[in-house]
Amino acid sequence: MVLSGQHAFITGGSRGIGLACARALLAQGASVTIAGRDAVALERAADSLRTGNARSGTQVPRVDICVLDVTDEAAVHAAIAAAAQQLGPITILLNNAGQAQPAPFAKTTSRHWQQMLDVNLTGAFHCTQAVLPQMLEKGWGRIVNIASTAGLKGYKYVSAYVAAKHGLVGLTKALALELATKNITVNAVCPGYTETDIVQDAIANIMQKTGRSEEQARAELAAGNPQQKLVQVEEVANAVAWLCQPSSSAMTGQSIAVAGGEVM
Ligand code: NDP
Repeated sequence: MVLSGQHAFITGGSRGIGLACARALLAQGASVTIAGRDAVALERAADSLRTGNARSGTQVPRVDICVLDVTDEAAVHAAIAAAAQQLGPITILLNNAGQAQPAPFAKTTSRHWQQMLDVNLTGAFHCTQAVLPQMLEKGWGRIVNIASTAGLKGYKYVSAYVAAKHGLVGLTKALALELATKNITVNAVCPGYTETDIVQDAIANIMQKTGRSEEQARAELAAGNPQQKLVQVEEVANAVAWLCQPSSSAMTGQSIAVAGGEVM
């Protein structure tokens, strides 16, 4: 229970990687607020977290939900203030909300470009600005940005997403330096293709564009991973939970690939 007394705010916590991270942080004793745009999905996810927590016999950690769109600056600031009222100052921020819509560069409209930057990069900027004063006041904090291997290398047909995730890695490094003497660490976790809805969408897109079967499309994505498999959400959550521990205090400004050796 190394995180007992901490309050983790997780954007995109209703499913996929964010939900797995919420589960891992709860298991270490943190209270968690999961945030996203869909109240029903958040309630469902929160119920599953509460049930898992009760089964583990742990009583203290609490789970709350927060409906917000990370691209809406005013809504982010209001929601984060409300979350702190409910479960106490936020000391762990997981900037996880993201979208990965593909388009060849020639067909990338400025609207699409802006949307990818808004959700994957500016959303993290808004949330971090809203949470940081609480961490500074507490004198302790952990910020983990879920970037991607697309923040470390290029992939074709997702140039806007790749640009946004490289931006998120850059933000991670710059902010880590600014906060280095404040007991607040800032790191990026960079998953490879991970078994979630985003990958289901990518598989559907490959099937539609190429006529390949689901099995072939899945194998194509897994082929980029030297372990020849899709990453599992728990593998990403393990890295996140470790970075959030007090004993990880010397880890800052890092971008850790969780990708079976795809990037090294
Ligand atoms: P999912 O699509 O499963 O989940 C995305 C989450 O983000 C949902 O909870 C969604 O909730 C939320 N979300 C999306 N847009 C917004 C928004 N504008 N405001 C608030 N919440 C939002 O994705 P993953 O779990 O796969 O992805 C999580 C993160 O991991 C993303 O940043 C993604 O880029 C990154 N990643 C994923 C990889 C993969 O292969 N799966 C690989 C590398 C990185 P709702 O729609 O209800 O708002």
